[in-house]
Amino acid sequence: MSVPLFPNEPQKDRPDASTTAVHEMVSFAGIGVAPGIAIGPVYLYEGEAYEADAEQLDAASIDDEIQRFKVAIVRSEKELGKIVTVAHEKLGEDSGVIFDAQLLMLHDASFYDAVVDLIRGNRYAASYAVQTVLGHHRQRMEASGSASLRERAADIVDVQNRVLRNLRHGRALSKIDANHIVVAENLTAADVLLFSRRGILGCVLDFGGPTSHVSIMARALGVPAAVSLHGLSEVVKASEILILDGFSGVVIINPDDETLELYREKQARYQALSAESGEVAAAPSETQDGRHITLQANLEFREELPLLHEFGAEGVGLFRTEMLFLTQGKALDEEQQYEIYRDAVRAAAPHAVTFRLIDLGGDKLLPMAHREANPFLGWRGVRILLDKPHLLLPQVRAILRASGDGPARILLPMISAIREVRAIRTLIENVKDELRNQGIAFDETIPIGLMVEVPAVALLAGRFAKEADFFSIGTNDLTQYTLAVDRGNDLVAELYSELHPAVLSLIKRTVDAGKNAGISVSLCGEMAADPRVTPLLVGLGLDTLSASPAYLTLVKRVIRAMTFEEAQSFAQEALAQPDATSVVDLLNRWMTGHNADLAAMLGLDDDS
Ligand code: PEP
Ligand code: MG
Repeated sequence: MSVPLFPNEPQKDRPDASTTAVHEMVSFAGIGVAPGIAIGPVYLYEGEAYEADAEQLDAASIDDEIQRFKVAIVRSEKELGKIVTVAHEKLGEDSGVIFDAQLLMLHDASFYDAVVDLIRGNRYAASYAVQTVLGHHRQRMEASGSASLRERAADIVDVQNRVLRNLRHGRALSKIDANHIVVAENLTAADVLLFSRRGILGCVLDFGGPTSHVSIMARALGVPAAVSLHGLSEVVKASEILILDGFSGVVIINPDDETLELYREKQARYQALSAESGEVAAAPSETQDGRHITLQANLEFREELPLLHEFGAEGVGLFRTEMLFLTQGKALDEEQQYEIYRDAVRAAAPHAVTFRLIDLGGDKLLPMAHREANPFLGWRGVRILLDKPHLLLPQVRAILRASGDGPARILLPMISAIREVRAIRTLIENVKDELRNQGIAFDETIPIGLMVEVPAVALLAGRFAKEADFFSIGTNDLTQYTLAVDRGNDLVAELYSELHPAVLSLIKRTVDAGKNAGISVSLCGEMAADPRVTPLLVGLGLDTLSASPAYLTLVKRVIRAMTFEEAQSFAQEALAQPDATSVVDLLNRWMTGHNADLAAMLGLDDDS
């Protein structure tokens, strides 16, 4: 962790290294973001500011090391090339020159030769050789009297970080063994995907919130996770034994025998609940007085499609299509998208798949993305799509074609103005004309809905309802925009709550406006996955909830154990509370009273 830039920067209770001697049990409170209990040794994943160690290679690995260096250079060149292209597009022809100096450095034969000489001659690891060569170069520039040379020193730091990161990429991954819990300052959604393929037990991060995309990815992949641990990665040591409670967010280093026993029991209880989940998945999703609540799945990947049946989802309420692009680091063409969408509608039939148009921006950035000072208030979602028809049109064609194979719906992300809805609708109509002319089958009446995730839309929901076939409430963003709290910023994580009465009243307003206009309203933000909140959402009048498949059976247990009538009076009580904390107390009391097993699982019984 670096020294704070501002002396008054809020300092969260950072774990103190001096109190965490090896073998001492220490417990930390984070936020649980993906369910499950993991117990196992730590794998420490290092962050961006990386100091290479002076490792000595054995003679046999020298050629491989040079090869690794070459691959890292090629990767770094590709990354920079993409950045230059986007800089040209967004900022004009001259803007890319700021990266030209870095590209020149990567191509510079004297840099290349000096690194290879150190690997061969001194048997330095490639990272250390790069750091040594560029370090000398930088020192010379920083010492120079010329201001422009001193500026170029910053370019060298950038190049060094880029090459070292690319060098580390392959290595760090290959070192991760199955059956470890990854502890890191932060990870990207793509990192979690790669790690899950290596069979890790769980993830613990210093940063992040429940709705940051790394958390969403962990849930989608069934990797237990906790975030917002405030500097834990600095004090924990590799291979120490760690307990991770993905429900309560509690993380314990070096547990004693009694604690281990307690968490093994919790783990067994969760496994038993999961074992029954097949039965629950097949049972109707109905309150005791007969109100049906449709439970749908939030999906990100083709690999998740079998989960629809496993967890009894009635269709897909939110397919985050941008995740397909993010994990590949590039846009998919129409055909690649069509194949995935066609498989999705076939897997979900007879229920529909709701394809949300690519929602890039915010914390979902492609490697070549344009950097902004306030990305969540910037070029996001539909704003990008309207500027980039080459992203939008192939996707619309692919979804429309898939609608010929099974029921599909189109969902528009980050809408804040009626003219955006109309503009997208016109573009969709043009694509339909094109397909008709080509004789390609599609659903002529494919429903087009809006994400209600900007307060402006919730406030004017009655007007927006006239432009839409359905609403889907995105409480992850609705909360951050209503409360002015960045959903991924750990410093303000305590202020982020979907249960703030202001957010609840916007949900209610949207549900009522949808009902008046005769369109369906669902909720697909992460709060739909929290079984404690289910009575409240049902009581607010929502009859469709969409969540990560792994949570659907937990949510259904709660639905089946209550009546709609009691949920309604409960929601009235919640809306009248002064703040989120009192709403949380209310929800916890309900859960402990109605569903003791689940309450214990969620850590509401105070036994941990
Ligand atoms: C939301 O904002 O609530 C939502 C479902 O979309 P995302 O989390 O992908 O921004
Ligand atoms: Mg959103």
